[in-house]
Amino acid sequence: MKTFKRLGKPNNVSKASGAAERSASFVMCEHGYTTMVDHCKEVKPLEGCGLLFGKGEVITTVIPMVNENHSPVSFSIRSEALEAVMKERMVRGEQWLGVFHSHPTAPAIPSETDRLMMDDESLCYIIVSLALRQPDVRGYVTEGSQLVPARITLQPKESLS
Ligand SMILES: [Zn+2]
Repeated sequence: MKTFKRLGKPNNVSKASGAAERSASFVMCEHGYTTMVDHCKEVKPLEGCGLLFGKGEVITTVIPMVNENHSPVSFSIRSEALEAVMKERMVRGEQWLGVFHSHPTAPAIPSETDRLMMDDESLCYIIVSLALRQPDVRGYVTEGSQLVPARITLQPKESLS
């Protein structure tokens, strides 16, 4: 039922090597990016969250979701809500590509909790930090047991087809 696409190629980055090479990269439409960042700003001081859809490495749809935890330091998405959105997007031929959430006052670095949760190798995880005046948006993917940075490139929607 769920269509998962493996993103990025597995490489031989060892656990100890720390700063891994950027083997994964995504393209995101500017509109989706704005939707994501605006949602996070709106719900601040709580953590914002949502789902990312598209095809392959191209994120074309951003769906903000309710943070069931209503917390400034954690988030969760109700599974019924997740499934409903998932169904709706798949009818449109989109794949579930990732999850985003915000860190209202912390840097865009995965917390310990994030690390435990970000374990699906088929997904891209985006963290939006609102700690500074300029939002800091960073992507991550899981490779083996390690989270590695993923490059996010913005493009106008018209150029994505
Ligand atoms: Zn987090």
